[in-house]
Amino acid sequence: MQNLTCIVCPIGCSLEVKEDSGLPENLSITGNRCPRGAVYAREEIRSPKRTVTATCQLDKEAAGARRIPVKTALPCPREKINSLLDDIYKLKVSLPVKAGDVLIADWNGEGIDVVATRSLDLFDNPVGSSNKSCSLHTCGMSA
Ligand code: SF4
Repeated sequence: MQNLTCIVCPIGCSLEVKEDSGLPENLSITGNRCPRGAVYAREEIRSPKRTVTATCQLDKEAAGARRIPVKTALPCPREKINSLLDDIYKLKVSLPVKAGDVLIADWNGEGIDVVATRSLDLFDNPVGSSNKSCSLHTCGMSA
């Protein structure tokens, strides 16, 4: 038996997952208040996926602006996340970028796009500005 917490909605039902007849495809799922919990549990047991968030470097012409936050448009299989992050960290993004721009399309043929989650142009966060962003975060807070 395996215990999971459903993360599909804020209720967070506690799920119990048991294999029926010793076959992994025959799962008995209890504790879910709605069918989405059973779908989540099956996927979590068979092929867990996660939405990946990270930040990318900017190219040198964007000096002053530090990194741009990105996320996957679809969840990525968990065992492939490190490889995806390697490719995200190799990117050097040219500005301007709009939130929603696809920075990596169909990563590795997985159908996963990596998109910017923030708009940024060359004039945001100039070098020497008293309004530069926090150096540790991409939250936009003033330093
Ligand atoms: S099982 Fe349904 S109600 Fe419970 S947390 Fe998941 S989505 Fe929400």
